[in-house]
Amino acid sequence: REGVRKCTACGLCKQRKQAVFGVGSQSGPWLFIGEGPGADEDEIGEPFVGQAGKLLDGMLAAKGLPRGRDAYIANVVKCRPPGNRTTTFDEAAACASFLDRQTELIRPKLIVALGKTAASRLLQTEASLGSLRGRVHEYRGTPLVVTYHPAYLLRSLPEKA
Ligand code: URA
Repeated sequence: REGVRKCTACGLCKQRKQAVFGVGSQSGPWLFIGEGPGADEDEIGEPFVGQAGKLLDGMLAAKGLPRGRDAYIANVVKCRPPGNRTTTFDEAAACASFLDRQTELIRPKLIVALGKTAASRLLQTEASLGSLRGRVHEYRGTPLVVTYHPAYLLRSLPEKA
C-alpha cells in the first residue's frame, strides 16, 4: 500500500490527487478488477465510489456480497488517467506488479474483470468483450471471468439483464 501511495513508475502520478489502492475483504474469495480510478475515486481514495460504483454495489448486493464482505475491489491502474481516458498498455504494465501482489495476498477463488480494458490488460488480448464473456479464463493460476463494466451498463441498460 505504501509502495502504491508513493509510486512514480508512470506519468499518471503527476496529476493524481491520490493513488487508489483497493477496498474490501482481504481474504476474497472474490476479486473484482476495474480499469482505473475516475474523478470521484481520485478524490476519495477508494475504487468505484461514483455512479458506476453505485451500480457495482447493487450488483454485489444482489449476489449477497455487500462491499467489504467476501469481495475485494481493485483496479488495473491505481492512479486516475487524466480526463478518464483509457489506460495505456505501458501504464498497465507499470502498475502490474501491484495488482499481482494484491492477487497473491488475497488469493481469490475467482477474479471478475470488469469491462474490456481490464479484460484486455489481464488476459493480454484484444478480443472483444462479447467473445470473452461466458467462459472461464485464467489469470496467473486463478480462474477469471469477464463481465461488462458498470459504467458501460449505465450507458446501455438493456445489457444489464
Ligand atoms: N471505473 C473503474 O474502472 N474503476 C473505478 O474505480 C471507478 C470507475
